[in-house]
Amino acid sequence: MPVLSTPWHFAWAAIPSYEVLLGALAVMVLCLGALLVMLGVWYRWWRQQHVCPEHRLLMPMLSEADDDRYLESGERVEESLGSIDYQVFFCPHPECDHIRTFRVEDVFSDYRRCPDCKFMTRSSTQTTQSYPTEKSTGSATVHEKCGHCDYALTYQVTLLELGPPAGGRLGSLTQQNHQTTGNSDQWGSGGLGGPYGGGGLGPGPF
Ligand SMILES: [Zn+2]
Ligand SMILES: [Zn+2]
Repeated sequence: MPVLSTPWHFAWAAIPSYEVLLGALAVMVLCLGALLVMLGVWYRWWRQQHVCPEHRLLMPMLSEADDDRYLESGERVEESLGSIDYQVFFCPHPECDHIRTFRVEDVFSDYRRCPDCKFMTRSSTQTTQSYPTEKSTGSATVHEKCGHCDYALTYQVTLLELGPPAGGRLGSLTQQNHQTTGNSDQWGSGGLGGPYGGGGLGPGPF
């Protein structure tokens, strides 16, 4: 049947030539090579981090309870607050005290760096005294304190007044658009140039 044979005909025609296939193969080999090199570099870096340089032993990770004695008091507070996770790896050789500590910062943590002790243990809470309206600003008090040292700070902030409701602004923009479109036959694109700030490109000197 001629109707069925047509797709086969197209499929054969779509098979690329020998040179194209060879080119694709070369690109694939190059990509694979690059991937292997990257893997090798990563593996060397990983070995450097996780193998004791003296004894060539793989260093296991200490449990969260056991790694505390290798951490400073501020680092222990950071870990208990969840702002930083410390991972301590140790050489299992009985006569070796080589350890390596990794610091993993939690980017979603609410704790910030304390200006006094420099640990990520500063928290801040905000109490609103008056809420801003469309016509007036509001005010709030911010309390900052550190979970590790004695740092504490209280200050006032001004809350910016609310802009006009987004719906209203959108509404007027839509209306403007509508008008421009309505007049476009007479005014061309010049009408659009004005309100959208395209002055440079507008119908000025040209
Ligand atoms: Zn060692
Ligand atoms: Zn502090």
